[in-house]
Amino acid sequence: MNKATRKAIIAGNWKMNMTPSEAAVAVKKTAELVEGKNGCEVVLCVPFVDIAAAVEAAKGTNVKIGAQNVHFEAKGAFTGEISAAMLVECGVEYVVIGHSERRQYFGETDETVNKRTKAALAAGLKVLLCLGEVRDERLAGITDEVVSMQTKLDLAGISAEDMKNVIIAYEPVWAIGTGLTATPEQADETCGVIRATIAKLYGNDVAEATTIQYGGSMNDQNAAELLSKYHVDGGLIGGASLVPEKFDAIVTAAQ
Ligand code: PEP
Repeated sequence: MNKATRKAIIAGNWKMNMTPSEAAVAVKKTAELVEGKNGCEVVLCVPFVDIAAAVEAAKGTNVKIGAQNVHFEAKGAFTGEISAAMLVECGVEYVVIGHSERRQYFGETDETVNKRTKAALAAGLKVLLCLGEVRDERLAGITDEVVSMQTKLDLAGISAEDMKNVIIAYEPVWAIGTGLTATPEQADETCGVIRATIAKLYGNDVAEATTIQYGGSMNDQNAAELLSKYHVDGGLIGGASLVPEKFDAIVTAAQ
């Protein structure tokens, strides 16, 4: 197994943008542009309230719909939360877990990321598991230790079989929404550290088969070079995914 045989995944993370009617238009437009570009999986992760409109608009296209979070309990008194079964029944195939904005603003920890990941996998969802260092950690030279520790904690208790449905999104926090991008070499090196950590946990075959995305100000200008790197198997894209033409350019770069 090597880069050529790993499935590249280009996923948009719309964050808190787009109403349902706007979502329907944007999904249709994106689907038109990416039609036939089957060299990578194309995913749009939309706000919960947009899911129905997005799933409907994506029917019969090669765009898959994802959510941006999921709760770890199956049901009960968890006001404002959404379960994995609810997402599955709505036609969702992917879910972002552990995004840095959730870790930073909503108290997400490696422990809750791990619990959410287990719940999502048990329900049959594919997980886009986000991790990455903050600026001070990179400046202190401890990026490798940080991403390795997050990888181990976030994947604790997850089986090698379940790893088939786990995609890691390496997102240096200092590069998200800032216009600062990791250099292709930095992205490759740190995705390589994550892959080496997965190899320690699960062995080389699982590590070589795992899709590892880069995320952090990826756009139509820098995508081709980032995606050309051995350990970078796709992208998780925020800002640029809101503009179908820009997102399509990234999908094209991944072919
Ligand atoms: C993200 O939201 O995961 C992200 C990478 O955002 P942006 O592309 O805007 O930096």
